[in-house]
Amino acid sequence: MKVRFLTLGCKVNQYETEAMRETLMSRGFTPAHEGERADVLVVNSCTVTAQSDQKARQALRRLRRQEPEAVTVLTGCWPQAFPGEAEKLTEADIVLGNGKRGELVERILEYLSTKQRIVDVAQHTRDEGFEPMAVKGLEGHTRAFLKIEDGCERYCAYCIIPYARGRVRSKPIEDLRAEVLGLAQRGYKEVVLTGINLPAYGQDIGLSLCDAVEAACAAEGISRVRLGSLEPERLTPEVIGRMRAQEKLCPQFHLSLQSGCDATLKRMHRHYTSAEYMKIVEDLRAAFPGCSVTTDVMAGFPGETEEEFLESLDFCRRVGFAKAHVFAYSRRPGTAADRAEGQVANAVKERRSRALSEAMEQSRQEFLRAQTGTVQEVLIEREAGPGLWEGFTGNYTPVRIEGGEGLSGRILPVKIVRAADGYCLGEAF
Ligand code: SF4
Repeated sequence: MKVRFLTLGCKVNQYETEAMRETLMSRGFTPAHEGERADVLVVNSCTVTAQSDQKARQALRRLRRQEPEAVTVLTGCWPQAFPGEAEKLTEADIVLGNGKRGELVERILEYLSTKQRIVDVAQHTRDEGFEPMAVKGLEGHTRAFLKIEDGCERYCAYCIIPYARGRVRSKPIEDLRAEVLGLAQRGYKEVVLTGINLPAYGQDIGLSLCDAVEAACAAEGISRVRLGSLEPERLTPEVIGRMRAQEKLCPQFHLSLQSGCDATLKRMHRHYTSAEYMKIVEDLRAAFPGCSVTTDVMAGFPGETEEEFLESLDFCRRVGFAKAHVFAYSRRPGTAADRAEGQVANAVKERRSRALSEAMEQSRQEFLRAQTGTVQEVLIEREAGPGLWEGFTGNYTPVRIEGGEGLSGRILPVKIVRAADGYCLGEAF
């Protein structure tokens, strides 16, 4: 049977799709490439924003229209967080919650024999363990994502994820070591450690993120270890010091901010102030000279006044982010913020998001210009045009170089000669 996956959302979702894909391939399924008819279509959904839900709905309706004979499967965070809504989506023949993906093959075979719609979304439990999963690689990627943590217990006021992902669960360190080694043996030079609340790694098994980083960096054959999104408050000077000892750790830190205004951070139930955030940024820059700090920041959180927004905008400018993902606040049913007074009008949210995006684009260009003249190692990822190759430095600067054949997957020293629009141009050094 031919199968095709559509993945929405974060690196954890992409990892889980890869794990599902490898399981199906090991059970005799084959990939249905773009344009090829599939027997099974799997949508691995996200529910971070209302738009994410909409994308999953639209994808299923489109797939059902285009390939009416195929078995359609909806899984991921949307059905897990909103089982009632997902159940109504009859374009999905099979609806599986996050904890049921390991049974995907059995449920597909069951549906094919009974033609009875399957909806199986089990609620997360307190004693639930880390879902055993391992990947051999990441199809079509030069860097491999490695999910090492699941769940979150922070309940930020705007966030639905703890309801979709349950309590913190960590991948056993021995499994992590074995998986990184396997990826290195298959030629991956870089792994990206990722999770739902990555810095919470190990809190359920008496370890910490530093243990995971050291284990990944110790793997023979791995040249670079990159970290996925980080919640700031666990990046203490001790943690930063321990990480600094790891030469393979990429000097790029995606430090989720959400707002640069203390009053808004308080209403968001975030556990740091803007001053504490700036201190962490300074500690990282002192420990990792030339590192990049990237972030997620939101506009239009309930109750956000124009003054509070301008305070946040000013703070974001002062940090000097290498890149920032800007979001307009999206109401999520069931969250504290959804019940809050002072919901901001969409037009105001859009205006503030635009202003924030423009300011962050300027920061990005300043960051790229600051790379000029430096010599950095670039992991070449793809051909960006005839004889033109693109890759990323350790601090996640996208760099293009002119070069010969077959450079993909190679790490090359590159002199960065100038910044262009959204990337840098370099010369192999
Ligand atoms: S830390 Fe906050 S924003 Fe991040 S997943 Fe947990 S609840 Fe959501």
